[in-house]
Amino acid sequence: MSYTVKSGNLGYPRIGGQREWKKAIEAYWAGKLDEQQLHGQLTEIRLHNLRKQRDQGIEIIPVGDFTYYDHVLDMAAMFGLVPERFSYSGGEVSLDTYYAIARGNKEAPASEMTKWFNTNYHYIVPELGGRKPQLTINRPLVAYREAKEKLGIDGRPVLIGLYSFLKLSKGFNEATEWDHWVEQLLPLYVQVLQELAAEGVAWVQVDEPSLVTSVSAEDITRARAIYETIQRKAPEVSILLQTYFEAVDRYEEVVSLPVAGIGLDFIHGLDGNLAALRKYGFPAGKTLGAGMVDGRNIWRTDLYRQKQLLLEILEVAADSEIIVQPSCSLLHVPVSAKQEQTLVPVLRDALSFAEEKLDEVAALSAAVSTGIDSVKGLFESNRIALDNLAKDPARNRANVAAAVGKIASEPASRGSEFAIRRKKQKEKWHLPLLPTTTIGSFPQTAEVRSARQKWRKGEWSQEQYDSFIKEHIQQWISLQEEIGIDVLVHGEFERTDMVEFFGEKLPGFAFTKGGWVQSYGTRCVKPPVIYGDVDFDQPMTVKETEYAQSLTNKPVKGMLTGPITILNWSFVRSDLSREQVAYQIALALRKEVEALERAGIEMIQVDEPALREGLPLKREDWAGYLDWSVKAFRVTTSTVRDTTQIHTHMCYCEFHDIIDSIRALDADVISIETSRSHGELVHSFEEHTYDLGIGLGVYDIHSPRVPSVEEMTSMIDRALQVLDPELFWINPDCGLKTRGVDETVKSLKNMVLAANQYRAKE
Ligand code: GLN
Ligand code: ZN
Repeated sequence: MSYTVKSGNLGYPRIGGQREWKKAIEAYWAGKLDEQQLHGQLTEIRLHNLRKQRDQGIEIIPVGDFTYYDHVLDMAAMFGLVPERFSYSGGEVSLDTYYAIARGNKEAPASEMTKWFNTNYHYIVPELGGRKPQLTINRPLVAYREAKEKLGIDGRPVLIGLYSFLKLSKGFNEATEWDHWVEQLLPLYVQVLQELAAEGVAWVQVDEPSLVTSVSAEDITRARAIYETIQRKAPEVSILLQTYFEAVDRYEEVVSLPVAGIGLDFIHGLDGNLAALRKYGFPAGKTLGAGMVDGRNIWRTDLYRQKQLLLEILEVAADSEIIVQPSCSLLHVPVSAKQEQTLVPVLRDALSFAEEKLDEVAALSAAVSTGIDSVKGLFESNRIALDNLAKDPARNRANVAAAVGKIASEPASRGSEFAIRRKKQKEKWHLPLLPTTTIGSFPQTAEVRSARQKWRKGEWSQEQYDSFIKEHIQQWISLQEEIGIDVLVHGEFERTDMVEFFGEKLPGFAFTKGGWVQSYGTRCVKPPVIYGDVDFDQPMTVKETEYAQSLTNKPVKGMLTGPITILNWSFVRSDLSREQVAYQIALALRKEVEALERAGIEMIQVDEPALREGLPLKREDWAGYLDWSVKAFRVTTSTVRDTTQIHTHMCYCEFHDIIDSIRALDADVISIETSRSHGELVHSFEEHTYDLGIGLGVYDIHSPRVPSVEEMTSMIDRALQVLDPELFWINPDCGLKTRGVDETVKSLKNMVLAANQYRAKE
C-alpha cells in the first residue's frame, strides 16, 4: 500500500550555524554595520537556510519564518502596531523603530517580553490600543517572492493566526474588545492571503498554538468565526492550521474548523492527539500535518517506532494527504550536530539538531511513500545510536535508579514545622528586624570574565584562578560588612551561569560546543544536556562558601541552583519522565546541602527562578507538575537541622496562581523579584496570606540606576501593609552579576539605610 505522504518543515533556526545572525545584528546595533550591510548579511543566512532545506529533500519549505528579531514582533510590525510611546507616522516600520520596540530607546521603554508557551524562547508582546492597524507590508509575500526568484523554491508562507495573535497580545480587554480587534485585523489577514493567492501561492501555514492551551466553547466560536471569514474571502488559498507543543484542546471542534489542513503535534501532544484521532477520526479530504520528529529536543528519532506510529495515523486518516513534519518550528533546537565531534561518541552519535531532524523527516516520509529501502541506512544508524545510548553505563547507574525508586519513602519534610523552626532560628541567628541580604551574585566584571577565560584556556593554573576568586570573595565580604548587610553571600564569581556551573560538576551532564538556541532577540543560550543518570560526585560549592564564612562573623548563605531550574534550563533525556530526572537532580543536590551544613554553612539558598516556566500549557495539568516539582525541592532541602535556614529565590511577578505551591516549598525565607510590578505582587498578598519568611525585591537590578532611599522605603511600607514585619526581609530583586561595582555598592548602601529607617521607627 502506498500513501500520499510529503515531507515538510514548519520553521528553521534563524541564528546560523556559527551564530552569524546574532553577530550581524549586534554589529548593526553597535554601528559597525549599516542597514544595507545588515540586510545583505541576513539575506545570505536566510537564503542559505532555504537552500539547505531544499537540498535535504524537504518538499514543503516554510518562508517568512525568518526574522530580524522575533516573529511575533514581525506580525505586530506588519500591522503597524507600534506602541504609541514611539514616534511613528504610518507606513512600513523602520528598522530602528522595530528594534526600539524590542529593546527600548531614549524615547521610551521596550515592549514587554514573555515566554513563548512552555519553551525558553521569549517573544515581544504585541500592544494593541492606540493606533489603528494597517497593512504596512505583506511580509509573507515578500518572503515567498524572494525564495521563488532567487532559488526557484515554491515555499509555503508562515503566519501567526489571528486567534493566537490576539491571545498573545495585551492592551485590550478580551471579554469586551475581542470582536473589535477581530474587525480591525481580520481584513488585513484577508488582504495578505488574497495577495498571496494572486501570486499563485497554494498553501499557507497559519500557526495557532494557542489552540493547545485550555480552550473554552467561546474560544472555539471565535476561532470558527475567523476561519469562516477567511474561507469566504480568500477561498483560493489552502490553509494548514498548525498547532504544536501539546495536544489540541477540543480536538473534534478544532479539526473541523473550515480550513484545508490541520497540523498536530504527535510528540508533545502524542497521548491526547492520538487518543482523539482514534476516537473521532480525521475529517475526510483534509490534509494532516503530522509532527513526528521532536522539534524541541536534541535526540535522534527512533525512526522504526515513528514509522509504526505514522502507519497507524495513516490508517485513521486514510483519505487524507499526510505531511510528515517536525513537531514544531526547529527554532527551538540548535542548527547542526556536525560540530559536536569532541563529545563522547555514544552521546555524539545520538544527537539530532535541526539539520539532522530534517533528514529524519525526509526519511520517514520516504519510508512510507516509496518504501524503506532507500532510507534504511538512517533508520539503522539511529536505531544503533539509540540502543548504545540506552545501554551506556552513564544511563544505568544502579545506585541512582535505586535511590529514585525509593523516593516515596525519602524524607521530603523538615524535622519540624515552620513555627517551631522559626523560633529556634530566631534564637540561633539573632537577626535584626527586616534583615538585609542579596540574592547571590555580585558584579561579574570584565576582570572576572577574563580570569575565567585564562583559566579555561589553561593560561592560568588552578591555583592562580582559585586565588583570584578568593581575592574577590574577600573584597566583597568586606564590602558587605562595610555596607552593613546582615546575611552575606560569597558572590558567585566562580560561576558563569547558574545551571552550567552545577552541570559541569554533576555526572550525567554534558556540554555541546555549538548547541546554541535563541532565547530572545539576539540572546542565545547553550543549554546543558542531561544525558545520563545525575549523581553526586563531590562537593561543588563548599570550598568558596566555607572560605567566605571564615572571613566574617556574620552568616554567609550557601548558594545552589534548585532541581527544577536545572531541569527546565537543560535539554533532558527523553527515556525517563521529567519527574524522574528531577528527583535524580534533587537527590544529588541534597548531598550538597548536607555537605554545606556539615561545613558550618547553616543558611542555604536554593534558587528556583524557573519553577514557573515548567507549568504545563493546560490548566488541568498544573497540579501534577507542581506536585512533583515541590517534592523535588523538598527532597533537596528537608534533611537539614531545624536551625538551618533554607532560603529560596524566584524571579517573576505572577505569583498569585501558584502561591499554595510556593508555600508548600516550605522554605524558611523566599526572595522574589518584584520591583517592576511591585504593586501587583503586593496586591496578591492581600488575597492570599503568606506566613513564612519573605523578601520582596525592593529595587530593580536590570537598570544601572541607583535607587533612592525613599523609593525603597515606600516599597517597604507598601509591602508591610500586608506582610508581617517579623517575617520580612530586605533584598534587591535578583542577582547583581550584570551590574557595575560602583552602582551596586551605592544601591546596597541605600537599601541598608532604608531598612535602618524603618527599624528606627519601631
Ligand atoms: N543566585 C543567583 C544570582 O544571584 C540567582 C539568579 C537568578 O535568579 N536568575 O545570580
Ligand atoms: Zn532572580
